[in-house]
Amino acid sequence: MNSGDKCSLEQAYRQGMEKLKNAGVPEAELDAWYLLEYVTGIGRASYYADPDRKMPAEQKTKYDKCIEVRSRRVPLQHITGEQEFMGLSFHVNEDVLIPRQDTEILVETALELLDREKDVFQRERGTIRLLDLCTGSGCILLSVLHYAKCRMEGTGSDLSTRALTVAEGNAQRLGIAAEFIESDLFNDISGRFSMILSNPPYIRSSEIAELQEEVILYDPIEALDGREDGLYFYRRIIAESPAYLEDGGYLLFEIGHDQAADVTEMLRRQGFDEIRVKKDLAGLDRVVYGRYIK
Ligand code: GLN
Repeated sequence: MNSGDKCSLEQAYRQGMEKLKNAGVPEAELDAWYLLEYVTGIGRASYYADPDRKMPAEQKTKYDKCIEVRSRRVPLQHITGEQEFMGLSFHVNEDVLIPRQDTEILVETALELLDREKDVFQRERGTIRLLDLCTGSGCILLSVLHYAKCRMEGTGSDLSTRALTVAEGNAQRLGIAAEFIESDLFNDISGRFSMILSNPPYIRSSEIAELQEEVILYDPIEALDGREDGLYFYRRIIAESPAYLEDGGYLLFEIGHDQAADVTEMLRRQGFDEIRVKKDLAGLDRVVYGRYIK
């Protein structure tokens, strides 16, 4: 192409896709497409109506830059700055784990339990208090608060100040009231809760190296590493939770696909009842919860 020629949308897209493919990016077609939409604001229908439309030079420069960054395996979400979760848009960066679709199962389970028990919770305690440990971007806490059909007070905690800044920003952007506390699990938490949720780090240290390059390079390692057997955080949270749960309150976890038996056993030993395991859309164990009855 001559330097004066402008590139069409389709040419830009094809070049972008080829570059991503050559860099070994999984789902290169999709990512080249999302980035084109991100840079031009042009949706699919409009693109197909006229793929030969010329792209303004500054947009082409920006698109090439985005493709180059994605070729270095920087996650798409760090380039666009957002990830959709439960139909809501969350701001993300390298300080938080990018929300995974599998985690929606945890939110859906929490919403089902709240729907079932809200009258009891409200009658007994007035206010329903919800705690999300290891909140990260705040996606779990904020989605539950957004969709629950009952009034609640929500608290999110994290060890990382930088993660809390992201979570607070998300609460503000979504217009959801929540409290955020910097705390190593329960250390700086007070009072009791009707429900405690957590998607703690649960990957075995020895398995971190096997994750996707995007995850290893750009997700915060402290959000993934569950220490030697991957169960470190479940052990601590389960042991300490009775002092923070209301009578009849629930403790819910996201777990790794092979952790259901271990986490169930820990809950049982700690005296939890009504322990259940839920699977994700791929049929893998994904959520474990139990009820604390004094
Ligand atoms: N499911 C995430 C992953 O596979 C891990 C989340 C976690 O450790 N809590 O990367």
